[in-house]
Amino acid sequence: MADKPEFDYDAPTVKYEVEESVAYVTMARPEYNNAQNGKMTYELDAAFRKAVADDDVKVIVLRGEGKHFSAGHDIGTPGRDVHLPQDRVTMWYDHSNKEGGEYLYVREAEAYLGMCRRWREIPKPTIAAVQGACIAGGLMLAWVCDLIVATDDAFFSDPVVRMGIPGVEYFAHPFELNPRIAKEFLFTGEKMSAERAYQMGMVNRISTRESLAEDVKALAQKVGAMPRLGLALTKQAINHIEDLQGKRTGMDAVFAWHHFTHAHNDLVSGDKLGGYDAKAMARENKKED
Ligand code: ZN
Repeated sequence: MADKPEFDYDAPTVKYEVEESVAYVTMARPEYNNAQNGKMTYELDAAFRKAVADDDVKVIVLRGEGKHFSAGHDIGTPGRDVHLPQDRVTMWYDHSNKEGGEYLYVREAEAYLGMCRRWREIPKPTIAAVQGACIAGGLMLAWVCDLIVATDDAFFSDPVVRMGIPGVEYFAHPFELNPRIAKEFLFTGEKMSAERAYQMGMVNRISTRESLAEDVKALAQKVGAMPRLGLALTKQAINHIEDLQGKRTGMDAVFAWHHFTHAHNDLVSGDKLGGYDAKAMARENKKED
C-alpha cells in the first residue's frame, strides 16, 4: 500500500460548486501549490463525473485555490501517493504492490495518462482558469481543458527533461505549441509567460488576478448558452481530428519512452526521477529567475 505519513485522508483536496449552469472544480491544496497527489486525482475525477451527470451543468471550470494553479504532480508532500486501490477508474490493476517498472507504468497509465485522456473526453466544455505557476503535471490539467484563460502573471513550464525524461506523461506539447517552440520549451525547461502562450495559441484569453473569476464566468456562461449536444459533438469533432493527426497514437509512443527513462533512471541511480524531488526541482527552476 502507498505511503501514509501524517496525512489526513478525510480532508478534501478538491472543492465543487455549481452556479448558474457552471460547475466550478477547485483544487484546494494551496499550502502545496496544488500539487496533485493520488487523492486529488481521484477527487478531481469524482468532481468531473458529478458535473457530467448533472443536467443543469453546461460548462465545467477547473481552477486552483491560492497563489498558483498547480505546481505539478506531487513529488514530495505528505500523502504524495495516497489512494485506495478501489479508487481506480480505468481497467488497470492496482500498482501499489508491484515491483520494478511495473509499479510506475501501471500507476501512471491509470492516474496520469489514463485520467487525462478521460478528462479530455468529458462531453461538456471545460475551461481552465490559470494563475501563477502551471508546471509539468499542472500543464496536463490545463491542456486537457478545451479553453484556457490565464492571468497576465501566469507561467507555464515542463522542466522534467532535467530528470532525463522526455516531458510529462500526457505528451500534448507538439499540439499545444508548434513543434519548434515545443522543442525549445522542453530543451530549456524555461518558463513561458502567459503572453507568449497566448501568442502561440496555447491560451485563449489573458486576464488579471483581479478579473480572472469574472472573465471565466462570463466566458463559461457564453459557451453554456449553446445547446448541450451541439457543444458535445463540436468538442468530439475537434478532438477526433486531433487524434487523426496523431495526438493519441503519438502519446502512446512517448508514454513508452517516458517509462523507459523512469526505468533507466532507476537502473543508473536507483531513483525513477533521476534524483530530483520537489525541493531540488524548485531550486533548479529558481536559477532561471
Ligand atoms: Zn512519469
